[in-house]
Amino acid sequence: MRLPFVARRFANRALDACFLAPLDRLFANRFRGRVVCLLYHRVAEPGAEPVLDAFGTPPIPPRELERELRLLAAWGGRFMTLDELAQGAWPSPREVGLIVSFDDGFRDTYEAGLPVVEALGARALVFQISAMLTEAPALLWEHALYWLGAEDARFRALARSLDGEFAHLAGADARATVTALRERANASQLRAMVTTALARCGEREALADLARRWYPQRSTLDSARRNGHEIGSHGAHHFKRSALDAAAFEAELVASKQALAEACGIVPRAFSYPFNSHGVGDEAIAARHFEWVFTVDGGPLAPSFARSSVPRFTWPGPHPNALRRRRWLRTGYV
Ligand SMILES: [Zn+2]
Repeated sequence: MRLPFVARRFANRALDACFLAPLDRLFANRFRGRVVCLLYHRVAEPGAEPVLDAFGTPPIPPRELERELRLLAAWGGRFMTLDELAQGAWPSPREVGLIVSFDDGFRDTYEAGLPVVEALGARALVFQISAMLTEAPALLWEHALYWLGAEDARFRALARSLDGEFAHLAGADARATVTALRERANASQLRAMVTTALARCGEREALADLARRWYPQRSTLDSARRNGHEIGSHGAHHFKRSALDAAAFEAELVASKQALAEACGIVPRAFSYPFNSHGVGDEAIAARHFEWVFTVDGGPLAPSFARSSVPRFTWPGPHPNALRRRRWLRTGYV
């Protein structure tokens, strides 16, 4: 039975209290002698990009990212890289190894996130959607879909472009429609519906401006790499796995690897599944193309971890209080 909202909020607050000293000490040992992989997405102030805020993952403000990473360092965190892990380095029993990663590769990750990471003497792993580089100034289907859903007249153009099994969504609200399309349409359906709706809107310059504002340049990736950060692949077009068959999924991996090799001058060795969407057999497909494959399936790494399925903890969104932040950083969950 689901607890009513107020009761759940109260129960959550009560759990936060576990992270008051001295109880907090019980949790302090949880990750010692292990490696924790952290996942963040955009690094920006909430409200700076209303379209992305409305439908995408919430951004972490740079100051909050810094606060979290400094807290982890003060608790014995040791920032590590894939090179160090590959060479057999491991945290001591008193340390917590930390890999800091970012998915998607928006421009703000490079411009606002990486400087924070560097200020702590750390280096990050950025999983880049390669179409942001190869198809700009066209918006990726997903971001175009969010843009269409964010304003009434544009949403009407989208609603008129829905056909077949999605035609009934024309009567739903923007959030329900965008979510249903993202979750259930396949890649060619998404491309067709978004392209038709964008043609109806006809605001090509506005879209190109967004792509320039949101997406990094090749030179951005190049300088991140020269500063010691690692660029991995997050697929070519950020489709959910259910939007693709196995051959198309593998083609996405190959295309993104090639595009990033051209953009960065090195072949990426790491991949993270878009939307953490993966199923039976995908680990073997991904392992054909990448040495390291990351999920968001939680759990710290033990020395025996498999490179073909490396779990991460994802930032849960803004913390309502300092204890909740502590709880997330101590356990990987809230
Ligand atoms: Zn993603």
